[in-house]
Amino acid sequence: MNETEIPDGTTLLLKGGRALLPGKDWHDPECADIAIAGDKIAGIAADYRHVDRTDVEVIDARDHLVVPGFVNAHYHSHDVLAKGTLEEVPLETWRLYALPPQYPPRSAEEVYARTLLGALECLRSGMTTIQDMLTLYPYQERHMDAVMKAYDAVGVRVVFALQYADRKGIDTIPFWRDTFPSELHPLLSTSTEPERQLDLLGHFESTRLKSPAPTRVSWALGPSSPERCSTPLLQRTTELARRYDIPVYTHIYESRGMALQARLTIPEYSGLLIERLAKEGVLDPRLNFAHSVWLSPREIEMLAEHGAGVVLNPQGNLKMKCGIAPIRLLQGAGVRIGLGCDNCSCSDAQNMFVAMKLFTLLAAVSDPIPGPPQAANALRAATEGGAEGARLGQSIGRIAPGYKADLTLIDTADPSWSPMNSAARQLVHIEAGRGVRHVVVDGRIVVRDRRLTTIDEATIYDAVKTVMPDFRRDFAVISERVAKLQPYLDRAHRQIMTAPLDMDRLPFGSH
Ligand SMILES: [Zn+2]
Repeated sequence: MNETEIPDGTTLLLKGGRALLPGKDWHDPECADIAIAGDKIAGIAADYRHVDRTDVEVIDARDHLVVPGFVNAHYHSHDVLAKGTLEEVPLETWRLYALPPQYPPRSAEEVYARTLLGALECLRSGMTTIQDMLTLYPYQERHMDAVMKAYDAVGVRVVFALQYADRKGIDTIPFWRDTFPSELHPLLSTSTEPERQLDLLGHFESTRLKSPAPTRVSWALGPSSPERCSTPLLQRTTELARRYDIPVYTHIYESRGMALQARLTIPEYSGLLIERLAKEGVLDPRLNFAHSVWLSPREIEMLAEHGAGVVLNPQGNLKMKCGIAPIRLLQGAGVRIGLGCDNCSCSDAQNMFVAMKLFTLLAAVSDPIPGPPQAANALRAATEGGAEGARLGQSIGRIAPGYKADLTLIDTADPSWSPMNSAARQLVHIEAGRGVRHVVVDGRIVVRDRRLTTIDEATIYDAVKTVMPDFRRDFAVISERVAKLQPYLDRAHRQIMTAPLDMDRLPFGSH
């Protein structure tokens, strides 16, 4: 057997796993040894000599797949505790639960517990990077500190953006102002702080962007959505993104109502939000558009021209009655695609296997003409696509020397994997997370044998139990409030769904 000398400085060796390496066959991956030195992949070889090396921890990766850690490219940690609270509801209704106006302030303990819990779920399903687009309302520095402390303690990589806006929710949804009696209008905004004096963006710049980010954290900006942000706010966002060379995450065209709102309110931009952004000078490669369900073909071309990307969140899009993103059109135009699991209150599960499976199934159902094989595309979106959108494409999302050692080991001694006919197709269509056994972030094993190593998981569940009475009490108040609004919400939703909408394509991805 041809043994290779293990690279200097190796601290961890993943031995004999079948690894999804760039440019190689992901259906039938070869066995490889992966040497990790500190936080980086130091080398990959068929067989590293490692006997008599007491300074190297060896993980027996035989009967495992080694995949790049998944990048959850769209997620919000603010409603982790609301998982499983809702049945399927229209997006506009859901927003009143997820980001309600007049939301009672949360305790720092609750913020800490929910951040840990969300990160734990992500790690246990093989995600090594989370893009957290977080609403902290009302903003308190101690909440921000609690979030950073939680992420540091749990050991996950984070691309962090605060979510902000300067337009009230009621003015961004078609028919709402006319449908609801005026005394109910104060209940229809969402908690993005348009009325508060704090300059959140300026504060974020002075307290965070100007200093080096904490370990494993990189900064991003999170304007909530174009229709909820004024032109000056978006231009300021872009100016900061360019100055610090950081990514921007925003929501666009998640629902039919969002596309309709654009057609009704910005005729000067042909009713198209992407045209508005291009003319405002803010459309650039740093931008990531979560959802993008109702993009028109012309807007897709504009995204491709400007190098902007999308992050698809199929779970929430289905549950919130939003529709199906035009996956094939986006792929055809060469638009960068990442995958996310969005809020816990709408997607419920932070599970990239579910997101990948839905991505391939929706690409299939939305276009009657057979297209390219999608399993490897789904895996690339869940890894490289999300990494590139975060402007981390040179350091995460691939298993290659010099890249960060962010890796997930899937145990294939499981019925899902017998027989293994295609690693890529079985990862996407069969594996659901049960096989995630070890997770490495920054060269450190943070999940070993399906258990978090950095914090005792039981303490996280206990912390959540402690804060749940307060959360449930406040969520019940919000639910009662939404119930009062329900007849008007239903009426407005019917109007949104039946009003004519110029799309240039069928609204479920077909062309
Ligand atoms: Zn979102």
